[in-house]
Amino acid sequence: MGGLLIIIGVVVVMIVLLYFGSKSDVPDEISTQELANQESKPDQNNRSAEIEWLYDEAEMLFEDNGWDEWDKSVHHASGQRSRIERALKYSEGLSVVQYNPVSEYAKIRSKHNYYLVSKHGCSCPDFRERALPCKHMYFLANDLISNDKTRYDEHDNLPSFCEDAILYGLRFMIMGRGQEEVKKYINSHFGSFAASSSFQGVTAIVVADGKETARVAEAKSKNVMTFSFEEFKKLFTEEAE
Ligand SMILES: [Zn+2]
Repeated sequence: MGGLLIIIGVVVVMIVLLYFGSKSDVPDEISTQELANQESKPDQNNRSAEIEWLYDEAEMLFEDNGWDEWDKSVHHASGQRSRIERALKYSEGLSVVQYNPVSEYAKIRSKHNYYLVSKHGCSCPDFRERALPCKHMYFLANDLISNDKTRYDEHDNLPSFCEDAILYGLRFMIMGRGQEEVKKYINSHFGSFAASSSFQGVTAIVVADGKETARVAEAKSKNVMTFSFEEFKKLFTEEAE
């Protein structure tokens, strides 16, 4: 009798665990979780061929774009595969809204945000945390190869009424002396300002006087993009060198 009760007890606990275990979904984790599940399905051969293809594709895209500051091995680092797959296979609602072939910086729109992206890095939290290529970088690398780069030269993917809005959706922090001019520039291009001591939500930092203070160094150490005002003005304008 006691034994039976224990068995019933164990079964009840297992059902409860299974039920609540399956409910602990974090939205951004779902796709990663789904990808992991797919791996254990019978189609093992197809799946490993696909994974092989994803790695090859990532290597090729970086190489063809000349993003050689990243060693090939970076794509095989832990956690990269799901980022490559999310960018190349699912796109996840991403689009390149601006790209300047001179500065090689892009503004990428995701479902809820805009990011500043280049071969050097990205303004998203994922890149800041890991300092490894994020899905936005893989997406950009793919977009540059799939679409004609010159397509971006004329801003023809920007409606003419918002040509001034090149900084729309991006949030900046200004450091150093002489901030008025920088502020004016950001305002006139529809950018906004973020005040966050942790740099959270800050797209990039513009160092008005170009001086590398301890605070600027701190931002860099946290993988936050920093630009001098001169560099900043050239991000999305098309001044050929
Ligand atoms: Zn990113």
